[in-house]
Amino acid sequence: PIRVLTGITTSGTPHLGNYVGAIRPAVAASRGQGVESFYFLADYHALIKVQDPARVQRSTLEIAASWLACGLDPDKVWFYRQSDVPEVQELTWLLTCVAGKGILNRAHAYKAAVDKNREAGEDDDAGITAGLFMYPVLMAADILIFNADKVPVGRDQIQHIEMARDFGQRFNHLYGEHFALPEAAIEENVATLPGLDGRKMSKSYDNTIPLFAPREQLRKLIFSIVTDSTPPGEPKATEGSALFQLYQAFASDAETAAMREAFEAGIGWGDAKQQLFERIDQEIAPLRERYEALVADPARIEQVLRDGAARLRTTYAVPLLARLREAVGLRDLS
Ligand code: ATP
Repeated sequence: PIRVLTGITTSGTPHLGNYVGAIRPAVAASRGQGVESFYFLADYHALIKVQDPARVQRSTLEIAASWLACGLDPDKVWFYRQSDVPEVQELTWLLTCVAGKGILNRAHAYKAAVDKNREAGEDDDAGITAGLFMYPVLMAADILIFNADKVPVGRDQIQHIEMARDFGQRFNHLYGEHFALPEAAIEENVATLPGLDGRKMSKSYDNTIPLFAPREQLRKLIFSIVTDSTPPGEPKATEGSALFQLYQAFASDAETAAMREAFEAGIGWGDAKQQLFERIDQEIAPLRERYEALVADPARIEQVLRDGAARLRTTYAVPLLARLREAVGLRDLS
């Protein structure tokens, strides 16, 4: 089977973007034939951005409950919390020692942080942790430890998959063929959802619509989406409209075509927002009920996560690390 890997960072409350961009397509794919799916809560990654333990813990519970509420079956897929598999960290070090520093210098996230410092007239590396700099190596370990073939990603992540290939290849070259080289599966049909302010919806921007916001809060948030001041009766542009993009992500092709016509015919913003709210709530309401039961039972979630990691370690991570330790000349732990 093809191995597919998807992670969500435990840096805040999961939102509609995580659902449309990751959870919904991943759960659908896990039901297909010939795939072995790996879903993880990226909590080592969260520490790069969030230094608030309560937030990381809460987010871990919420994201795990979201995956389960959306139909992920932990008996059929690998479902685990990254930090429950400490071999990921050990592999990170082994890869760090073959990763070119020059390659890491060119990583988008690091370069963006440097550019921001330059604009502000600060030192290049002011406020940048080694964690942010090393993030692509941790991500390579996430992928290589299970020899994932396909990593579904948006265009902005292609570079990280290429780095994982590069580090894996260097390691193979030095120590023998241990890693399959992963490929990015570009999700052409998966939209990037805009947030309330029109930027990409992201846990870090505080512009999200939580996936399982209670119904009334969902309604309020949808009504707070920024629109232009085109009055009712005047044609509205679908291009660049956050409202339209959100609608499209939840509606069928026929419903989207009808909404496009309504925009052209000058639907009022209030009306359009009400329709968007109803469309989203129709899909989410049944999942929300399951979510609420799950999130109220942290002990059960904890058990699911621990079981998943324990099985995964015995099956893959521990034997792989034993082979790698031997390959590089470290002591055999067994
Ligand atoms: P952070 O702000 O902490 O980076 P995030 O919410 O932007 O978090 P991640 O946790 O890094 O996102 O991403 C988890 C998954 O959700 C990834 O597959 C990513 O592509 C997807 N995703 C995140 N934001 C969006 C969005 N706005 N639209 C579509 N998919 C998204």
